[in-house]
Amino acid sequence: MKLFRSSTVCSLAMVGFCIFAAAQCLSALKEQKQGLRRFEFTEPYMGTMFKIVLYASDESSALEASRVAFNRIAGLDHIMSDYQPSSELMRLSELAGGPPTRISDDLYGVMSAGQEIAQKSDGAFDITIGPVVRLWRRARRQHELPESARLAQALELVGHQKLRLDAKARTAQLLKPGMLLDLGGIAKGYAADETLRVLKGYGIDRALVAAGGDIAVGEPPPDMEGNGWTIAVASLDSPAQRPNRYVSLHNAGISTSGDLEQHVEINGTRYSHIVDPKSGRAITGRVSVTVIAPDDTTADALATAVCVLGLERGLKLIQSIPETRALICQAKNSELQCSDWHFPATRDQSHDSPIVRMEQVSQRFPGL
Ligand code: ADP
Ligand code: MG
Repeated sequence: MKLFRSSTVCSLAMVGFCIFAAAQCLSALKEQKQGLRRFEFTEPYMGTMFKIVLYASDESSALEASRVAFNRIAGLDHIMSDYQPSSELMRLSELAGGPPTRISDDLYGVMSAGQEIAQKSDGAFDITIGPVVRLWRRARRQHELPESARLAQALELVGHQKLRLDAKARTAQLLKPGMLLDLGGIAKGYAADETLRVLKGYGIDRALVAAGGDIAVGEPPPDMEGNGWTIAVASLDSPAQRPNRYVSLHNAGISTSGDLEQHVEINGTRYSHIVDPKSGRAITGRVSVTVIAPDDTTADALATAVCVLGLERGLKLIQSIPETRALICQAKNSELQCSDWHFPATRDQSHDSPIVRMEQVSQRFPGL
């Protein structure tokens, strides 16, 4: 794995990234030797498209495994959605201010991962951000900034210290009435990781799961033995342009966050869907962050946290967590500054036949 370590200053035209997973031109011979064929499936969940690419010996086992995997994602969507009032997450939020409540292992798992990143990022990532995100969603619909008094009120209900988890009893307690949980910054990464786990249970180790800009990869494709899945990180401003950074990964997660697609412009300022939990303000400076971590739950949450922290503090956070890498681009004074921490990208031009293109652009729920 080549390391691309230098800090780079790019032009504004480079603002934004999308992720392509560029599977290599497949060598049919090699695959046949291993008795494996490549299959690809796509279904919509969590407001985005989930794509599964896997290698299996035959079509029926590929179909069966992918069916179970998609059912698992649908189940997680039903637990973690903050759009479905009947989701476990929303029912838990309704009990805010009450006693500890027993929750499912999945909800516990994703929430405790969220709390860990909240602590490590000094609250830049915070799953109790719900009340503030609600106000910004309305702002985006109505093209009108939230009133500062209402933002201040909502902020009173935000803070990871106001959420108590008990690992032994598997309970969660929201200390203040009106609190609202939001797993939008971590649920897709968790679902991508869980999908890989399900596929493994079916004997399928060579798989990639992409939920928009959140990608989990298992063992490499058969023709990439000793390497990994080739993920291309490319400019979003010019989607037709060929990607120019490639990362080869296996058994890891890679996630991109930023103001690229999900933003609103009000009075000439661009407001992201990512909110700073300290101020209650939506991120305004253009920023794009790609994080690599041992799993995609961590990569997803960290990418959101680094967007909040910005380039310098974001780099410090990544440097403080073992086995994580990042590429952070931020616009400053009409220039785009990009810095990376051990981001293993090559500028190898040989990956010229991307078979799977992973869009960061997500199809959001209606009404957003
Ligand atoms: P995307 O959903 O586009 O992949 P992210 O992973 O960065 O992007 O998640 C953004 C979502 O996370 C927002 O839509 C919101 O639901 C939630 N969110 C916003 N700000 C924060 C924050 N500071 N901490 C945790 N979650 C956040
Ligand atoms: Mg995220």
